Amino acid sequence: MNDLEFRQQVLDTKSASFCAAKWYNATIWLGSGQTTSCHHPPAHAIDRAALETNPRALHNTPAKKLDRAMMQAGKRPSGCEYCWKIEDMGVSAVSDRVYKSRIYPLELLDQAYATDSQADVDLRTLEIAFDRTCQFACSYCNPAFSSTWVRDIERNGAYEGLVSDGRNHFTHTHDSAQLYRYGETNPYTEAFFAWWESDLHQTLQELRITGGEPLMSGELWKLLDWFRDNRGKSTTRLAINSNLGPEVDLDRLLASVAGQTVDIYTSQESTGAQAEYIRDGLDYAAWLQNVELLLSSPTIRTVHCMATVNALCLDSLDQLLDQVVAWKQQHSRDRVSFTLNILRFPSFQSALVLPPHLLLYYRNRLIAWMLNHRDKEYMHEHEINHLDRLIEYLDRVKTPHSDTFELPKLHNDFRQFYTQYDQRRGKNFAETFPTLVKWYDDIQV
Ligand code: SF4
Repeated sequence: MNDLEFRQQVLDTKSASFCAAKWYNATIWLGSGQTTSCHHPPAHAIDRAALETNPRALHNTPAKKLDRAMMQAGKRPSGCEYCWKIEDMGVSAVSDRVYKSRIYPLELLDQAYATDSQADVDLRTLEIAFDRTCQFACSYCNPAFSSTWVRDIERNGAYEGLVSDGRNHFTHTHDSAQLYRYGETNPYTEAFFAWWESDLHQTLQELRITGGEPLMSGELWKLLDWFRDNRGKSTTRLAINSNLGPEVDLDRLLASVAGQTVDIYTSQESTGAQAEYIRDGLDYAAWLQNVELLLSSPTIRTVHCMATVNALCLDSLDQLLDQVVAWKQQHSRDRVSFTLNILRFPSFQSALVLPPHLLLYYRNRLIAWMLNHRDKEYMHEHEINHLDRLIEYLDRVKTPHSDTFELPKLHNDFRQFYTQYDQRRGKNFAETFPTLVKWYDDIQV
């Protein structure tokens, strides 16, 4: 059954909005005490008091139970707009609702659909962030997810002159993202470890750690110590998001997780100086070396390259895909894969702010890449689908999301932001993106 058939025959026969991620998947930010399911909808607060008697309340919040009831009734929860926007492109569009449901056995999907929406369910796949410690400060990130971004705002103050939805990301230090100081007792972290010790380590298929940069967080190493000291007690597959910066201790990681199955997810959407511009803190050569070190280890099952497709990365995205293909050819199709995730916030960094002639130029380059590779055995179906939907998106979708601001405001913010980013970070937009520079210079602020 292909992805579209899965949507039509398995999901849509339950309801037109059913998605198993709302039951079995969660992202939980322990630093801010927030969660969402899947990772696309906006985060909401976890009831701290409920955790005292029920650590499952980390996931089974009243807001998610309401969304589950809506999905059982075929209504669309508004937080899932990411999927509805894709599906509204046409009857054959495949959204993440498919990818995030088909990873579970069919009987679990049936169970979710039949379960009382108010019942607590056990998680199967969990993405968790212990804190926002991170040595990078990427342009599309913000202080809520990076302690280095916090330092930028503390040292240099707010980014000025921003008027669209992105302005709030860059004007303050987002203290609510880190409710407890390092070393203080965090009840959300306590609840996670309590749930983990009691039964989560048996029910969870996959635990994915994100951040910040998880490999810079003491709590991650506490969890890895649990795996080292309890070998064989859990069959949970470990997955770790990492920026694979030069500071991360991969030797320690590989030693800690020996005997465990581990997937690594690393963010990357461009190459060389452009990648270092977008992902401030990155050393692209060190990143390449770190991916190769991981691919040489039998402990690592797969390295996934996650592209966050934004206005700047289209200039070298196809070169990054060439690199991924080279690794596939060297190591095998299944050891390396890529996903193309479309940036929506802050919308002034969306690819859709580019002028039509540049969108057409980049779209044509992606079409050319696609024609060269789509029939090759090393391509995964999801990779072809992600390319198809990005190519379609660059042609048909006109605004990054439904509440987006009009283009002049987005252009203002694009120019304002990258002018200040250059000054604060010692970067040079014009030298790094010569294809964009004429359009960039013509933006009036
Ligand atoms: S955003 Fe899409 S994939 Fe995520 S929970 Fe909603 S419907 Fe599922």
